[in-house]
Amino acid sequence: MCKHVLNAQVAIRSPCCRKWFDCAECHAETADHPLLQSFEMVFACKKCKKCFRKDAREFEDSDEYCPRCDNHFVLDAMTPKPSLQVEGEDVRVDARMLKDDRVQGEQQRSIFDVKDAADRLG
Ligand SMILES: [Zn+2]
Ligand SMILES: [Zn+2]
Ligand SMILES: [Zn+2]
Repeated sequence: MCKHVLNAQVAIRSPCCRKWFDCAECHAETADHPLLQSFEMVFACKKCKKCFRKDAREFEDSDEYCPRCDNHFVLDAMTPKPSLQVEGEDVRVDARMLKDDRVQGEQQRSIFDVKDAADRLG
């Protein structure tokens, strides 16, 4: 259970260093490099402990559930602090993940905030 996304249902494996993190923020705190962006994400369900892959380009409603135990892992992230802005809060993977705006200082967090974490380090 990470301190950023309190209700995280899955861990994600970073494509860059191939370690497991509960969220992109955890990677940002422990790694010395920006989180590599990847369309194919490897998840580990915290309920059944099984790993599975998802392609962010083909993410559908049914993909919000663990393929092994049907645990609903795409949730609105519960974070310790209230978020200052709404943009980027959607935990579903969508096109906004790919936008190139540099956002700084905000507290938006979700397990899919890959680009955001990379920006803050880069
Ligand atoms: Zn890494
Ligand atoms: Zn975290
Ligand atoms: Zn599961």
